[in-house]
Amino acid sequence: MTTELDFDAVVIGAGLTGLYQAYRLREMGYRVLGVEAAEDIGGVWHHNRYPGCRIDSESEVYGYFWNEQLMQEWSWSERFAAQPEVLRYIHRAAEIMDIRKDFIFNAKVHKATFDDVSNAWLLEFQQGHRAPVTARFVFSALGPLSATQMPRISGINTFKGESYHTAAWPRDPIGFGPAKLDFSNKRVAVIGTGSTGVQLIQEMAKVAKHLTVFLLEPNWCTPLGNGPMTQERMDYIKSHYNEFTAKCDASIAGFPHEFDPRNLFEVPKEERDAKLEELYKGPGFSLWLGTFQDGLSDPEANQYLSDFVAKKIRQRVKNQHIAELLIPKDHGFGTRRVPLETNYYEVYNQDNVSVVDLNTTPITRITPDGIQTTDALHELDAILYATGFDAVKGAWNRIDIRGTGGVALKDEWAKGIKTYMGMQCPGFPNFFMLVGPHSGATFCNIPRCSALAVDWLSDMIAEAKNGGVQRIEPEIAAAESYSEYCAKLMGKMLLGQTNSWFTGINKNIEGRDKREALLFVGGNPKFREYCDDVRENGYKGYIMT
Ligand code: NAP
Repeated sequence: MTTELDFDAVVIGAGLTGLYQAYRLREMGYRVLGVEAAEDIGGVWHHNRYPGCRIDSESEVYGYFWNEQLMQEWSWSERFAAQPEVLRYIHRAAEIMDIRKDFIFNAKVHKATFDDVSNAWLLEFQQGHRAPVTARFVFSALGPLSATQMPRISGINTFKGESYHTAAWPRDPIGFGPAKLDFSNKRVAVIGTGSTGVQLIQEMAKVAKHLTVFLLEPNWCTPLGNGPMTQERMDYIKSHYNEFTAKCDASIAGFPHEFDPRNLFEVPKEERDAKLEELYKGPGFSLWLGTFQDGLSDPEANQYLSDFVAKKIRQRVKNQHIAELLIPKDHGFGTRRVPLETNYYEVYNQDNVSVVDLNTTPITRITPDGIQTTDALHELDAILYATGFDAVKGAWNRIDIRGTGGVALKDEWAKGIKTYMGMQCPGFPNFFMLVGPHSGATFCNIPRCSALAVDWLSDMIAEAKNGGVQRIEPEIAAAESYSEYCAKLMGKMLLGQTNSWFTGINKNIEGRDKREALLFVGGNPKFREYCDDVRENGYKGYIMT
């Protein structure tokens, strides 16, 4: 490695994935610099401090399975941990890795340029942040859900009251959670009913004087099944981590849920319904990822699941007009990310909660006093935006990334995403992506599945280092074939035929109204097999010079 470069490798992002990647590279003897736009580590868990924010993965399967010390010393307090606890966990992990010293903060990369002659990258930071740095390799752990997206509504900045996007929530200056904001005497609006909106609505309904939910397309939500983690349970988990790891590794999405291998209609109705009842009551993604194997691919089986959940919504929401508003009509159960909830539907039975159906009365503008729809001005003290992200590719698109010949990654992706294993794009040598488009970790329990990518890439880099390799890039044909594979897998699932962030649709971004195969949905075992095969065949598909 040439000493003319500032670093052997730069890791962008200090979330769970970036921290681990930087640690692996440092332990391998690389001169590594971690750069993070925020003032501290934690990634999404640092930014998303809205009330109600918690993991939808069982606590014990979220985190660093590879770190035996952490797994044994850490005890979770809830079955599904809340944001402050997850962030505390990340801080403890960073302490064990002693990784904070390898990062610089408040360093937002705005441009990355590859130099064909030196086979190295030049990273430039947002004005005033930092001086540029050079490095042989760049590992971008930017996060698939980190590029915050506000809605396109006119007058948004004229509102006189408080307004926050959930992913840029004010922080407690000394603790791990949110700032202490008081909504108790306030008229509050929430826009957005994805996983974030659902969690936020549950909490705001407890405290707001009045909560108005501005509802566009609802989602199919199922119970989270949270509760305190008992000491007994935690002791059991700690002595059985190998089993938990194996279960996650064998599952499609890295969670401790496995599909029932039978087709839905093969099972007698009584048994089928009893199974669905059991799954509905089960924890986490039991119903979504533990359903009958054709439930997310066969339209009739999927309709059966949707009818089952619709019935639950009608039972739980007293006002049947509101219940109908909360039942999705544009997509089937599980074809978009399923939000998990705790008494979410019961919130709509409260006197202090109302719903505005944006399909019949759209928002026309935000005014200084509130939200104007086609039929009324809703006067408000606070507007909370749970409107999501420019998902999967947004964080990369927001950096000006220039590969060979000055080609912009954004321009390439505008023609259609082409990656090899979701880890690299042709024409962008030495630039690696973690948990981006087509990555096996993006449609997965992220820390569990991103560790696989980190380990795989680290091994590849170690081999390259031994062989004196200075440049790694994928063959165009390999990237085309892998991308077609992603599209084929997605095409088999109903989620590939549904508008959501999974398929790149975003109504707040110009030109994002056509579905694309953004994810690898073949599942964790298939992705691992693919990685093993490439490695065992001398990193086939990669050009290393
Ligand atoms: P999201 O799923 O993209 O939901 C955004 C919501 O905002 C949707 O309900 C959307 O309505 C609405 N919306 C967007 N623009 C709007 C507009 N102009 N007017 C009215 N409504 C508008 O975003 P998210 O809820 O932040 O979740 C994103 C992902 O983050 C999740 O799918 C999940 O993977 C992850 N997440 C995880 C957790 C967890 O593990 N506990 C928690 C939160 C989030 P339409 O659907 O009609 O567009």
